[in-house]
Amino acid sequence: QPRVLSGAQPTADSYHLGNYIGAFKQWVALQDEFEAFYFIPDMHAITVEYDPAALRERTYIAAAQLIAAGVDPERSVIFVQSQVPEHAQLAWVLQCITGFGEASRMTQFKDKSSKTGADSASVGLFTYPTLMAADILIYQADRVPVGEDQRQHIELTRNLAQRFNHRFGETFTVPEPHIVKDIAKIYDLQDPTGKMSKSFSGPNGVVNMLDDPKTAAKKIRSAVTDSGSEIRFDPENKPGVSNLLTIFSALTGRPVDAIVTEFDGQQYGHLKVALAEIVGDLVRDFGARTRALLDDRAELDALLARGAERARAVASPTLELVYERSGFVKVR
Ligand code: ATP
Ligand code: MG
Repeated sequence: QPRVLSGAQPTADSYHLGNYIGAFKQWVALQDEFEAFYFIPDMHAITVEYDPAALRERTYIAAAQLIAAGVDPERSVIFVQSQVPEHAQLAWVLQCITGFGEASRMTQFKDKSSKTGADSASVGLFTYPTLMAADILIYQADRVPVGEDQRQHIELTRNLAQRFNHRFGETFTVPEPHIVKDIAKIYDLQDPTGKMSKSFSGPNGVVNMLDDPKTAAKKIRSAVTDSGSEIRFDPENKPGVSNLLTIFSALTGRPVDAIVTEFDGQQYGHLKVALAEIVGDLVRDFGARTRALLDDRAELDALLARGAERARAVASPTLELVYERSGFVKVR
């Protein structure tokens, strides 16, 4: 079975509806066709300023939310990056075959360091893409489901894999990005021209998956639409309404056209009320499942330890081969 690998940073107290629809629902679907590795990149999360206690708690919440979303810890390998030391070990080797100029062309560094300026950004933020390459290559992953914004990092990963293979002998699978065209991108509820985002959206622009159902429903009901009244899917002229239709479709599995037909002749308010109920129900269930998992930390710890063990069973032979190819002397 081909392997798939993906992760979502634990950089907020909860994932949001965009992460749920754009990432987790997809990850759940991929479990059937692929041997899936899903991880929480806590080591990536320390590349910018952060609070250690918050990171630890967010890592637990992230793990619980993955499972609450339907990622099955039996079928898929769910783990925390820092519990698998091979990621960092491989990253060093990859950094030594990455050109400084090549790394400097990564646009995420430019985006994420624009707040502080490049001089005060960490070297870790700069080398982030090589750690990401290690995350992928250590599992010999075939496919990596990512958003459009990560395409450049996948391209770097492919280049590094090919370069290493060429210089030191066939070692890595060269991965393909898995960018599904129809995967919905969810927009900010208050500014539907920008994406729903952990770092950029204001509190009313995002539905957090741990919002209480009333709050979540209210955010949907007060979503910004336009001054017209016709419910139709037209992202260019009606970004707000179109976003609500996208969310409606993603959560019910019904085609957008069918929803448009159902609301034919009705007001925006009707659509909002109906969607608010769907979203309210979703976060109610999702929140309850997440909290139940968080209530039993010993069980969650055991689950993650088991995931890390299964991950290492794949990562460790890859690292051993890389060390051997790199000319390191083996412990005997
Ligand atoms: P940040 O603002 O810190 O980058 P984010 O909200 O963009 O956070 P990420 O951790 O970057 O979230 O992304 C995790 C996963 O969720 C990725 O697979 C990404 O493609 C997906 N994702 C993030 N935001 C959206 C969105 N608005 N719509 C659909 N998918 C999304
Ligand atoms: Mg992002």
